[in-house]
Amino acid sequence: MGNIQVIKTVNEMHNFSNQMKMNGKKIGFVPTMGYLHDGHLSLVKKAKEVCDVVVVSIFVNPTQFAPNEDFNQYPRNFQRDYKLLEAEEVDVIFYPDSKEMYGENFQTFVDNIEASKILEGEFRPTHFRGVVTVVSMLFNCVKPDVAVFGQKDAQQAYIIQRMVEDLKFDIDIIVSPIIREEDGLAKSSRNIYLSESERKEALVLYISLKKAEQMIKSGVLEVKSIIEEMEKIIHSVNSSNLDYIAIVNKKNFKKVELLEKGQEYYILIACRIGKTRLIDNLLIAI
Ligand code: AMP
Repeated sequence: MGNIQVIKTVNEMHNFSNQMKMNGKKIGFVPTMGYLHDGHLSLVKKAKEVCDVVVVSIFVNPTQFAPNEDFNQYPRNFQRDYKLLEAEEVDVIFYPDSKEMYGENFQTFVDNIEASKILEGEFRPTHFRGVVTVVSMLFNCVKPDVAVFGQKDAQQAYIIQRMVEDLKFDIDIIVSPIIREEDGLAKSSRNIYLSESERKEALVLYISLKKAEQMIKSGVLEVKSIIEEMEKIIHSVNSSNLDYIAIVNKKNFKKVELLEKGQEYYILIACRIGKTRLIDNLLIAI
């Protein structure tokens, strides 16, 4: 037994959070699917900075995976995650199972009807419905004052921000920067699926994003020509299979064709390397 309280039931989670609120404590929350890495831990550090109590959830959420996706295969290692979170002095791990979250007669979903339809939503049509539903459930369980999400999943973070605003959740959302490996590959629990050669080739995602950044800095504003150059880099390795590249305005997550001064944009990419689907992005201000 270590120092973190592991809570597995919704009831206990409610009780803990109600108690903290009565004591005037500010609750910070980091939702994860486990198999933690430095990216997740950077979110935990952020939550600790701004809150009195930090709750991390570990829940591989079945409803955000399509039947053909990697739900069963998704890496899980609770003991390892526990140790990493103990080192960060996290207070609570909320670790429910699927039955606790979805019961036997689950029939209510929360859905986004716009931003969820493009990019990731085109390739994973049921994904965001699962994400938005589980995050709203987790928010109701944990009752956080602040929740921290990673820019790594920029579209997800935007959709959660919309949910909070649209449905009047009284929660501050913080979006925290992407943590990368030394060579630039964005850290991801799914990187362990990559073979040695794929791991090297996976770097094309980051290289193509940096190429786009460099073009924009040198004055290129036409999205089509930026994407063309990025595609050349992606297609230069054998294992790559591109899903999409797009540039969206940060403020409304809508695709743009021409970049304008004074605006902030996400350059977004999703690409399969062998059988592993990776996503990455870069935030740029013009
Ligand atoms: P996941 O466990 O993949 O569902 O991710 C949980 C949270 O960690 C999400 O908010 C992700 O955006 C965030 N995250 C994942 N990878 C990174 C990374 N490399 N840098 C920063 N945040 C990340």
